[in-house]
Amino acid sequence: MSDTENRKLFVCYIPGADLRRLNPANAPYMAGLLQSYPMMVFTRGFPTTETLSTIITGARPNEHGVWQATLRSDGQLSWMDRVMDALPDPLTTTVQCVLYQLGRFGEMPTIPPRRRRRLEFRRVKFRGSADTSEMLTKVGDVESVFRIIGATECSYRFSDQFHARARLLQEAVSGTHKLEILQFHGLDVLSHWRLDNEQAVRQYYRLTDAFVRELHEKCQARGVTMVLSSDHGQETVRGTVDLRRALRGSGVPEDEYTVFIEVMMARFWFHSPAAREALTRVLSKTPHGRVAAFEEFGRYRMDLADGRYGEVFFLMDPGYTIFPHDFYHPVVNCYFGLKDWQQRRRAHNPRHYAYHGYATVCDAEKGFMTVLDHRYRTDGQEHELIDMAPSLLGLLGYPKPASMSGHPRFHR
Ligand SMILES: [Zn+2]
Repeated sequence: MSDTENRKLFVCYIPGADLRRLNPANAPYMAGLLQSYPMMVFTRGFPTTETLSTIITGARPNEHGVWQATLRSDGQLSWMDRVMDALPDPLTTTVQCVLYQLGRFGEMPTIPPRRRRRLEFRRVKFRGSADTSEMLTKVGDVESVFRIIGATECSYRFSDQFHARARLLQEAVSGTHKLEILQFHGLDVLSHWRLDNEQAVRQYYRLTDAFVRELHEKCQARGVTMVLSSDHGQETVRGTVDLRRALRGSGVPEDEYTVFIEVMMARFWFHSPAAREALTRVLSKTPHGRVAAFEEFGRYRMDLADGRYGEVFFLMDPGYTIFPHDFYHPVVNCYFGLKDWQQRRRAHNPRHYAYHGYATVCDAEKGFMTVLDHRYRTDGQEHELIDMAPSLLGLLGYPKPASMSGHPRFHR
């Protein structure tokens, strides 16, 4: 049996860990690791906030299909639909949000019914911290690394609780899996809501640094190779744009277009040529963002064959967000503000303090993957997020499948 066949990998994946902050003052241990081990820096990602699907499949969002929403074809309205549409939006969305919390409602309860029924959601949402690698063997039609290696040989755990480190440390690095991924998401949540508090952020980085050191020591003790990775940093938010007000001001009736508004971009489908013309004009005059038709997405490393994910996009400049967006609802906002100490500031200011997932290449969008094994070196200069899955497979001795257009980047 060769060395790679025996190998076990533990991936400590920390979204939001910003390369600019992994310096000797904030994070001395991680800074040392990045200095002395082979590393690839992802300078090219995609305009999306949900990157796990790409990390585990090596496919782009439009290839695996997890990219928020597509347009649904219009169906007949039922009498119930008509009743719902006659009720005020704050009422229907509040009821939807309550039902959602009770586990009795589908995705995106924050969107009013008349707009929601036009959209088909393409999102992956994880809850709880159990091993969910079984559920992640495929994303859309694309096989993930968990399928290729075998779900029983893999483990994937998610935690968005920064204070769960002691428990996570205890559970992590079982040594029984070929590939174990821990997504430590608490730093990302804290960055979204507290990045303006420099002193607090430094403390979060120092605590994360100590956590990584302990995980690395456990890996060394158990003969497991550790991989440290982040897919993006966080850009401080300098301003917001009220896109809904701009849309209302256009005078275009709401039934002539469909919009889905994320924090860092909005996508549009037009149901009349007049709406397309008027709204494209409004968007092009809206500050802190740029308009891009789906045909132009090659420049954002995604070849969109048609307008299913959106005909026209409004992409915010790094450091600017759209507010209100489709994830915002006052009731939900209060709920999370009161329930989760990490998001407490939402209770009095629902706008994010930092964000990521921007289309423009900038320092906040840089990610990295480093293998804590001196026998490896990396190839290439510019790495992409789609290189991560084939690289993980390569480290375990598996060839990359045809569905992955990235490349294994670590070699002996
Ligand atoms: Zn985030």
